[in-house]
Amino acid sequence: MIRFMSPETRRQLGLSEAAAKKLEKLHLHTAWDLVLHLPLRYEDETRITPIADAPFAQSCQVEGVVQLQEVQFKPRKQLVVRIQDSQGTPLNLRFLHFYPSTQQQLAKGKKVRALGEIKQGYFGAEMIHPKIRSAEQGGLAESLTPVYPTVNGLNQPALRRAAQAALEHVDLSDSLPEKLLRDLHLPPLADSLRLLHNPPPEYSVHTLADETLPAWQRLKFDELLAQQLSMRLAKQKRQSGAAKPLRGNGALCRRLTDSLPFALTAAQERVLSEIRSDLARPHPMHRLLQGDVGSGKTIVAALSALTALEAEGGFQAAVMAPTEILAEQHYLKFRQWFEPLGISVAWLSGSLKKKEKEQVKTDLANGNIRLAIGTHALFQDDVRFRNLGLVIVDEQHRFGVAQRLALKNKGEDVHQLMMSATPIPRTLAMSFFADLDVSVIDGLPPNRTPVKTRLVNQLRRSEVEGFVLNTCRKGQQAYWVCPLIEESETLQLQTAAETQTALQAALPELNIGLIHGRMKAAEKAEVMAQFVAGSLNVLVATTVIEVGVDVPNAALMVIEHAERMGLAQLHQLRGRVGRGAAASSCILLFAEPLGETAKARLKVIYEHTDGFEIARQDLNIRGPGEFLGARQSGAVMLRFADLERDLPLLEAAREIAPKLIEERPDVVDKHLSRWLASREAFLAA
Ligand code: ADP
Ligand code: MG
Repeated sequence: MIRFMSPETRRQLGLSEAAAKKLEKLHLHTAWDLVLHLPLRYEDETRITPIADAPFAQSCQVEGVVQLQEVQFKPRKQLVVRIQDSQGTPLNLRFLHFYPSTQQQLAKGKKVRALGEIKQGYFGAEMIHPKIRSAEQGGLAESLTPVYPTVNGLNQPALRRAAQAALEHVDLSDSLPEKLLRDLHLPPLADSLRLLHNPPPEYSVHTLADETLPAWQRLKFDELLAQQLSMRLAKQKRQSGAAKPLRGNGALCRRLTDSLPFALTAAQERVLSEIRSDLARPHPMHRLLQGDVGSGKTIVAALSALTALEAEGGFQAAVMAPTEILAEQHYLKFRQWFEPLGISVAWLSGSLKKKEKEQVKTDLANGNIRLAIGTHALFQDDVRFRNLGLVIVDEQHRFGVAQRLALKNKGEDVHQLMMSATPIPRTLAMSFFADLDVSVIDGLPPNRTPVKTRLVNQLRRSEVEGFVLNTCRKGQQAYWVCPLIEESETLQLQTAAETQTALQAALPELNIGLIHGRMKAAEKAEVMAQFVAGSLNVLVATTVIEVGVDVPNAALMVIEHAERMGLAQLHQLRGRVGRGAAASSCILLFAEPLGETAKARLKVIYEHTDGFEIARQDLNIRGPGEFLGARQSGAVMLRFADLERDLPLLEAAREIAPKLIEERPDVVDKHLSRWLASREAFLAA
């Protein structure tokens, strides 16, 4: 969504059209956006520090007379200026980019102030690219100078002026009731904002960097409250919106469960009944189904889809997976389950031939196809459903915001089931996914032997090859996962191909296949089919198999350079084995030296098999921002609060949000219009 600052606002704030354009790049469209665009840090121009006393690697301002100016050409063109302060201490200032005006400003004999960090350079103490101003007009700043997040071409003075104008212009009266603020020991909003934009003289850089400063606490709380309010409202809106109730007589579902070689676990039964009671209601379901890798989410998805299909009204269902491989696996599984019931399943992905795609689209639009499985190609603009009742999204955390929005646009009135194998710790889920209902499959199907994990130094690679051979001689199969090479996909593919060649040479009696992300979908499917059929003993793979692949006879997984992978990824990968009854193992090859984080991760994956516990530990190691991945990028609005450090504020916001919605709609409106004006579309995704 692109929005522009209205000409009226621009005029009121005294901004040129060019300046307003730049502000738009920062997503600043309204006066309130500007008011809430708070400084990243502060610079202290209120005092002069003697160069001899300047703290290392901390910003400070020094003053001196230029002794020497020189343009050097080695190793590249740069301007070096030596100043000397009143105590006689010299300091070098170095500029890698400079203009003739910089040179004039720093001509020999001029008295200047330089603001920056002093570092120990090759030729002694120096400041690189300090902020320079002339010292000849005298006066020091009276209070700290705010430094705002900015973009190229928009300088700090311009941002400061815009922020000041906005502060003057908006109504700063508090959005929250006084009693609430008193209970939470939070200061008024107006005071907090004024303080952060214009810190009083007695405030130091140190004080303002302190997150526990009441003014920051207030802003963080307001931000979290806005998040909670908007999510709750989104949820309310959905729950009061209309959807077709999907109620069947259960006959087809019974036939499917009867045909399975296993009985559903109690946990599967429970989540299914939660889903079914949602589907039966005339409001759209938005349910997140969480279950560890291998917990059996696919059959739950299938039975949910079947519930929609057997409901009266001729509804359609769609199942979307993040990768072709996974979508294809689902397609095969669903066909195996649904065709005996007389239900045909369609396949739609980006890699289909144009003509085939057109046919599927026609059949979806006229309702000939009731069940479609595919990648996000299912939710492209030109795909229409005649009567879509339920959408199931597998591994929902892998989809980006744009895809979630596309899905949303397919129908507000459609029931949605989202599935995720990245368990989100409860507190986080309850706050960050406040707009969803959550079902959890706790526990794995019976008769699983836990995967045995071993950490092996890669120097012992040949022993591991011997282990692969033994495993395959027993009739079992193995995955060999190649290292993640983030810098270069080409390099990663090359490594995978070389690994296959080397393994094949070392183990000539085995059939060793290769699968990677750049293969054509048909080739991937072919290799996967060979592996499923058992004609390949070993599958060398890049991390494309990370998600959802299910081959019960695979009992061994070797992961190279496991130290480079994240915990969620390792857990997902390991979850590809141990799906049958046979004892399975996972060998994590690592290369020394190990960094602290890598060490911590390997320890966790070695010690734990429970995905929820691993997620908790992961959260400890990484913090919630990174942990939440894609979802986090959809919530760009959390600029100030930190889910981990500000948990108490989050809890308070969560507790108060429903009360405010109930009792003070005026407060809610005012609060949200300030905080979310330009961010709503993202939040709702
Ligand atoms: P995930 O939750 O990771 O998507 P899957 O749905 O792929 O897991 O299930 C993993 C394996 O467990 C599959 O082979 C599936 O057939 C099997 N499975 C699912 N439910 C049960 C059950 N109740 N009892 C035994 N095996 C089951
Ligand atoms: Mg799955």
